[in-house]
Amino acid sequence: MPSYTAPVKDMQFLLHDVLMVSDADVPGYADLDQGFTSAVLEEAGKVASDVLAPLNAVGDREGCVLENGVVRTPKGFDAAFKAMKEGGWTALDCDPEYGGQGLPYLMGTAVGEIFVSANMAFNMYQGLTHGAYSAIHTHGTAEQKAKYLPKMVSCDWTGTMNLTEPHCGTDLGLMRTKAEPQADGSYKITGQKIFISAGEHDLAENIIHLVLAKAPGGGEGTKGISLFIVPKFLVNDDGSLGARNSLSCGKIEEKMGIHGNATCVMNYDGATGWLLGDLHKGMRAMFTMMNEARLGVGLQGYAQAEAAYQNALAYAKDRLQGRAVTGTENPDGPADPLIVHPDIRRNLMDQKSFVEGARALTFWAAHLIDRSVRQGDAAAEGLVSLMIPVIKGFQTDKGFDMAVAAQQVYGGHGYIEEWGMSQFARDARIAMIYEGANGVQALDLVGRKLTQDGGKHVMAFFDMVKAECKAHDEDARMKGFTDALKVASKQLQQAGMFFMQQGMKNPNAALSGSYDFMHLMGHVCLGLMWTRMAKAAYAALDAGAGDKDFYESKIATGRYYMARQLPACAMHLARIETGSETVMALSAEAF
Ligand SMILES: Cc1cc2nc3c(=O)[nH]c(=O)nc-3n(C[C@H](O)[C@H](O)[C@H](O)COP(=O)(O)OP(=O)(O)OC[C@H]3O[C@@H](n4cnc5c(N)ncnc54)[C@H](O)[C@@H]3O)c2cc1C
Repeated sequence: MPSYTAPVKDMQFLLHDVLMVSDADVPGYADLDQGFTSAVLEEAGKVASDVLAPLNAVGDREGCVLENGVVRTPKGFDAAFKAMKEGGWTALDCDPEYGGQGLPYLMGTAVGEIFVSANMAFNMYQGLTHGAYSAIHTHGTAEQKAKYLPKMVSCDWTGTMNLTEPHCGTDLGLMRTKAEPQADGSYKITGQKIFISAGEHDLAENIIHLVLAKAPGGGEGTKGISLFIVPKFLVNDDGSLGARNSLSCGKIEEKMGIHGNATCVMNYDGATGWLLGDLHKGMRAMFTMMNEARLGVGLQGYAQAEAAYQNALAYAKDRLQGRAVTGTENPDGPADPLIVHPDIRRNLMDQKSFVEGARALTFWAAHLIDRSVRQGDAAAEGLVSLMIPVIKGFQTDKGFDMAVAAQQVYGGHGYIEEWGMSQFARDARIAMIYEGANGVQALDLVGRKLTQDGGKHVMAFFDMVKAECKAHDEDARMKGFTDALKVASKQLQQAGMFFMQQGMKNPNAALSGSYDFMHLMGHVCLGLMWTRMAKAAYAALDAGAGDKDFYESKIATGRYYMARQLPACAMHLARIETGSETVMALSAEAF
């Protein structure tokens, strides 16, 4: 069975050598010294390896079961959930006013990666709760916050997000779920939601559903949508649980992966709900949480690839097949280990260079969220909003590809369930779909984010890349990084120009290239991250840092990414510049 060890050293490198958190002037960062962050990450790593990872295959095998309206989670999930709660892990980056520990979002992200790598399906119960917590924290009244948040911070009550309906996924304007106002200020919610993650389960005393529905007078499309708090058990004024609300789980879905997480059809039959935020502004309320939610899914992409990579690497060192073409490396054995073969090396380097680059991008974005939330830094907020569709779309596409690549290292054994490698690929697959399918992320990037605030954020990004390259002009060791980054960044700008010139004349021309643009920008972002990591590694080596091998390996991995992955940018640009002609050539009937 696969095992998992938290990559604490890599995370420490990002926090202290690259982001230099202790020196960053962000409220709450002063406590993040080496000793503190290492203690938190090591402890999270122990929980992940000892408690969560052993349950990953159990959850996959057993799945969830719906019996008499109650969903039973896999054996061991209940005890593990209790351990997570008692360890305070659910409260890490929550507001101390409601029982949280108040750590920066960046720390929540690092710990989140560790838990997601160990057991993605299990971690979703807590992840969804954090999303609902954030929505109530941002948009709730003082009374709503006091009523729901303390129990959600501790995960005694969990949360859900209810958007999707049978006939409406991406196009939420088609929503049918109704909210009828009542004399006491509550609403009666009626409708069916599908695919609701953690919609029903046996891990918590209560489930706080956040439900999008249409209230009268809001008009057509998404404009009429409002957001409601709809608890499974109504909550009395003294905080105790009251009557069961009129809602139920009608079915749980059989699915490709994340079997340990219940994906529910939820029926609301005149259920009692309370408005969260402003009437008819439900979409706006959802959008304010979108950055965190999409960053969380982008994290799932590379976190699954990390877990798969760790096991593929161990297998490549252990499995003996063939001999190295340059001469035997294991003369005492019947064959050499797989890792001697250049094609296995290529595969492992693809995985390693992606995972470490994606982690750097995700941590940087989490740091920008801290800057924006804790300091009110508008530039950081603009930049992260630009990055989010890239983090979600690019990282989950590549994360899945890399989980499959790790499976490939095992040959036929990767296809056999006993080895556990197919679960990483199956679990990673959903991240490309939910929280806005990746095609829609590309649409958001090209159709909205590039031009947001007059294009100011994308210009800031280009300036940042330029400044990064310029800063290393004098350092010959960095040339391999900056030369490749300059070329890729120019290709990205050229693609943006193409959209500007063609988009007005023919919108199909821009949208036919949006997916390539998202990947092109993903490579530029990871190129920027590798340039920063190489700079930090050289600085550590120059300062005589102890672990020379670690820093040299960072530089070598970065060189691989720049040399072997950034050339994909030219291909994406070439595709973009062909416009829509070949994409749209066939009539629907001709397919
Ligand atoms: C396991 C699982 C868990 C989920 N959890 C939740 C949850 O907790 N809460 C919740 O509310 N939902 C949840 N979902 C639903 C999920 O978010 C949706 O499935 C997703 O947003 C896509 O919607 P859809 O399935 O209706 O696909 P559609 O909207 O029908 O889209 C189908 C395809 O068309 C593309 N497409 C659609 N519109 C356009 C367009 N204008 N331009 C270009 N391409 C387009 C999409 O990219 C996609 O590839 C979950 C789904 C699954 C499978």
